Amino acid sequence: MTTAGEPVPGLDLPQRTLLGPGPSNVHPRVLRALSLPCVGHLDPAFLEVMNGTAALLRRVFETRNRLAMAVSGTGSAGMEAALVNFIEPGDTVIVGVNGLFGERMADIVERAGGRPVRIEAPWGEPLDPDDVARALAANPGVRAVAAVHAETSTGVLQPLEPLARLCREHEALFIVDAVTSLGGTEVKVDEWGLDVVYSGAQKCLSCPPGLAPLTAGDRAVEVLLGRKTKVRSWYLDLPMVISYWGAERFYHHTAPVNMIYALYEALRLVLEEGLEARFARHRLNGRALLAGVAAMGLEPFAREGYRIPMLLSVKVPEGVDDLTVRRELLARANVEIGGGLGPTRGRIWRIGLLGHSSRRENVLLVLAALEAALNRQGRRVEPGAALAAAEAVYAAAAGAAG
Ligand SMILES: *Cc1c(COP(=O)(O)O)cnc(C)c1O
Repeated sequence: MTTAGEPVPGLDLPQRTLLGPGPSNVHPRVLRALSLPCVGHLDPAFLEVMNGTAALLRRVFETRNRLAMAVSGTGSAGMEAALVNFIEPGDTVIVGVNGLFGERMADIVERAGGRPVRIEAPWGEPLDPDDVARALAANPGVRAVAAVHAETSTGVLQPLEPLARLCREHEALFIVDAVTSLGGTEVKVDEWGLDVVYSGAQKCLSCPPGLAPLTAGDRAVEVLLGRKTKVRSWYLDLPMVISYWGAERFYHHTAPVNMIYALYEALRLVLEEGLEARFARHRLNGRALLAGVAAMGLEPFAREGYRIPMLLSVKVPEGVDDLTVRRELLARANVEIGGGLGPTRGRIWRIGLLGHSSRRENVLLVLAALEAALNRQGRRVEPGAALAAAEAVYAAAAGAAG
């Protein structure tokens, strides 16, 4: 008998260009931050990183809220934290449902003991504020309205200000999913009057998945502190979590130390670029991509005027097999794009240019790869038309700037 251990294969991962609905490509500086030494979660050096992260989050959320932190867990943990903490059993909550993530919010409201009142719009369409106004009028004493800002499942961007105004008028909290929008397009928490907002690390912040930034304003904190019942989740109990992120530093659960380093570095990158410049970059690359796919004869799925600038949903053309195309993009070009979900499964593609993935070279790469894949499926696309259309957008932008 030998005591030597058996050989175990090491990890071997491909370098992909991630152009789906998330995760996005992680910036090398963020990967380096992940590999810094792990210190104790109560180490003074780490507490400083936590304070720094909260301060950076306030700037990216454009808020003066005291409560700004990262929930341990992915975007869905942020969603759950934003709902279970501010809802008590029996509370009525109006939930906008026009895609998968609105559906998930309604599910969580119910699990938290709340009574969800669903305001629906077809997938690909925004919510109608008049529907929300009617629901608020018909249900006096509504605790909160919950809506998704950038509905990643459909590509729809929901204007938030009209909904925020209605919430103020009816003294309801406004709970917003900014998982895909934060760091890619404006999320003006204070100016727009958003009470509770959560996000995710792996979309436009270009961090690996595992943390959910969250902020809440005074009105929301008042509701939280006035609860008559315990929060129905121990792990996501914000009053307890806050006493770790706040001055008391009570141990609640061990913070994912290195992930917080990564988020800190990702937020630093966002602010070094500048919010305005970053949003403009996302818009420009998004416009170039849209021009390119339109030149190939593909049709956008989300309603015009309500499209997420950095996540394009397009209809899979008649006679083209969704899965074959996506498999080919991955196998031949190392490019990942997203497919549809639920009712849009097999019917749409979702091409994300999120955070560090939002680059001209990626736009040109995905257009060229898509053109080749469509041609292989027998759908004749004029060679080079997509790239030329995208380049024309960049040239026009450079002309306007110069
Ligand atoms: C990705 C996403 C989520 C869920 O985040 P996970 O990190 O997958 O848990 C929630 N809402 C929206 C709008 C998303 O795009």
